[in-house]
Amino acid sequence: MPVDLLMRADFLIPLGPAGARDRRIADGYVLARGRTLLEAGAWTADVADRLIPRVLTGAVDVIGGASPDGTPARLPGILMPALVKAHGHDHESPIIGVARDEPLADWLDHAVNLFTGFMGEQREELERAFGRSPNLVTYRKARLDDLAYGITSSMVHHCNHNKYHIEEIFEANREAGTRMIVAAGSQDRHYDDRILDTPEEALARLDEANERFGDGDMFQVIPGPDQFFSNGPDLLRALKDWADRNGTLVHIHSSEEPRTTAWFRETYGMTPVAYGESIGFLDERTILAHQVNCTGEDLEIIRRTKARVVHNPLANTILGSGMPPVIDMLEKGIPVAISTDGSGSADNQNIINAARLASQFQKALHQNARLLTAQDVLEMVTCVPAAMLGMHVGELTPGRDADFILVDTRAPNLTPTRLDNCVENLIWAANGNEVRYVVGAGRVLVDDYRFTTLDAEEIKNQVQDLSERFAKYRRTAREIQKTGARSNGQEAP
Ligand SMILES: [Zn+2]
Repeated sequence: MPVDLLMRADFLIPLGPAGARDRRIADGYVLARGRTLLEAGAWTADVADRLIPRVLTGAVDVIGGASPDGTPARLPGILMPALVKAHGHDHESPIIGVARDEPLADWLDHAVNLFTGFMGEQREELERAFGRSPNLVTYRKARLDDLAYGITSSMVHHCNHNKYHIEEIFEANREAGTRMIVAAGSQDRHYDDRILDTPEEALARLDEANERFGDGDMFQVIPGPDQFFSNGPDLLRALKDWADRNGTLVHIHSSEEPRTTAWFRETYGMTPVAYGESIGFLDERTILAHQVNCTGEDLEIIRRTKARVVHNPLANTILGSGMPPVIDMLEKGIPVAISTDGSGSADNQNIINAARLASQFQKALHQNARLLTAQDVLEMVTCVPAAMLGMHVGELTPGRDADFILVDTRAPNLTPTRLDNCVENLIWAANGNEVRYVVGAGRVLVDDYRFTTLDAEEIKNQVQDLSERFAKYRRTAREIQKTGARSNGQEAP
């Protein structure tokens, strides 16, 4: 008989089932068997009568322990679904705080592309120093970052040179015990000549990665062309065909900043979104990251084609790109998830902070405090992205995957927390890192703030060392000024 896993806490926010997303339960619990959630609800006398004997026989393992009479510890905190990140870049984990206060194109030249050049030029030396691929060093750090903020499921946009390193991201994800869709990048124009693809090359890379690593369960590979600007129509059509043949999503950066949109108008006489629709790239399985520069016509196209949007407010504000018309999108019925983007542009993976900023910005912009409630944005980092990504997570209802977290309410900033303010406190009062326990696919990945699958000290030491070497490299490196066509457009992060 397998041992089941139980957690009991002061507050349970199940965020499901649909139609009852705003339920809040005092003294709640969840019970998991293997990777599946069996039960979620109020800890009542009946539940106690049924489960305590099983705790005493060892058939149920209690997170946080049980008293000698078998009563599970009621943990001070909020028990809720693990967070779901619909857009990020694991390769950016070492470049936080680099080239800040610079706009997108300059940041790409001075942070992302310089770092990529450094990793290429010093590859052999770095491999010797770390005893592993330097890319794996960055991806392992990104897994640590996600777990620290309670994220167990993510879509990683594996763009630019990272498209050649799918094996390492697979390895990092497997080690961490997280769940991942890797959107493997591609480009055939406006980029470093050495990595331009033909459609055949891009498809062969996807086929190989899918065959070697895609298990359809904890790791999936999909097409992730970097952006419309760097991918011509033939390549995009071939990638969308591949996605349709294999029944997968397709993911791309779209309309992140104004100059790229201007280039599309000059070149094609239309916006990037209209271009996407004209080549048959947009449908309900197309996930657009950003969509900041969004016209009324774009909104109508996205609504009509049923494409989905991932909003990344930290990156969009820090890089001065602007903010998308999120309220207009939601009013049109367009699904919008909130995410962080990579740590290079957002400087962390604090997805609760991203949810707060998304709400705060729209309230101020529209001078309307009723917009984007705490409940709304909490759903936009849990059940909404889960549905978008086709993952059985993001809500605590029986039959879903057992992915849940405990947010510790003992911190001064979360005192007082009660049933009537627990969702509001999560968004407005939490720092985002009060995540004491993380369970992913039924495994305890963070146990009382301790990482169980990842060697946090080794990972932090290696990424610190890597960043010191990069800082030294930056002092003498030749300045890069080749990001896309800077005069008429830019590569996206
Ligand atoms: Zn991005």
